[in-house]
Amino acid sequence: MLIYKTVKGLQNKINALKSEGKTIGFAPTMGALHSGHISLIEKAKIECNIVVCSIFVNPTQFNDPKDLEKYPRTEKKDADMLRKAGNHILFLPPVKEVYPKDLSTKTALDFGAMANVMEGAFRPGHFDGMAQVVNRLLNIVQPNRLYMGQKDFQQFSIVQEMLCQLKSDTQLVMCETMRETDGLAMSSRNVRLSTELRAKAPLIYRTLSEARHKLNEASASEVKKWAMEQLSQTDFRPEYFDIVDGRTLQPVENISLSDYVVACVATWLGDVRLIDNLIFKNSNLSIS
Ligand code: AMP
Repeated sequence: MLIYKTVKGLQNKINALKSEGKTIGFAPTMGALHSGHISLIEKAKIECNIVVCSIFVNPTQFNDPKDLEKYPRTEKKDADMLRKAGNHILFLPPVKEVYPKDLSTKTALDFGAMANVMEGAFRPGHFDGMAQVVNRLLNIVQPNRLYMGQKDFQQFSIVQEMLCQLKSDTQLVMCETMRETDGLAMSSRNVRLSTELRAKAPLIYRTLSEARHKLNEASASEVKKWAMEQLSQTDFRPEYFDIVDGRTLQPVENISLSDYVVACVATWLGDVRLIDNLIFKNSNLSIS
């Protein structure tokens, strides 16, 4: 596996590979890698000649400086995992490579109502920072395909919208959420849960799964109310449980009026903030 820390070094290599006709798959991450991240690499390996993974803890998408400070960093272990997974190129840039002083990297894109709900409502500025870094990394890597997880459903939808607004040729690929055997969605933040809190964490996925069944007999707002109550147990502090249209991300009340329905949840468990989602209904999008 080749490792680059500078934009120039990476771009020289990618240009050479592209001139040989190689296709590039790209998976941007913030490190502290787990099997969820590796599943992106594996999918990219099947579909592209060369897989590039970036590890960059992007300061501009953290609205809470403490969250940024506490974000786990395990660079050496990450590189070993990527090597084992057969990743071809690791991009490990310092902040000054991604955000050089003489380059304006903020996007003027407007995601409208999509970015004001759920994560956007509870993490002001998060999606501006996320769009800024994804756009910058795409400009650097110029991949044919971009691999992102369903785990961050709203992020995925906003990136899709961004690519559409930018008329980008890069194809966005959704990768299904990898879970622990008890249902907890894999996340870099899970390592920060104490043993006691880790044992409680599967409640999030259980609530999502039960909500799907409850929606057969109850309205979306009733199910949302039920789910918020379910999640209001000791040590949990749910922020939202929303049942939304998978394209607009706006709440749906009557699910028969939408062909793409997703439940998204964010909750604190102790001092760790966790998110998850479940696609309840999806007639159009293919996920694998
Ligand atoms: P992060 O390092 O948290 O920024 O995530 C990097 C990429 O990995 C994003 O596209 C995430 O959606 C994806 N990802 C994170 N957790 C999982 C998971 N459990 N299963 C699948 N993909 C994931």
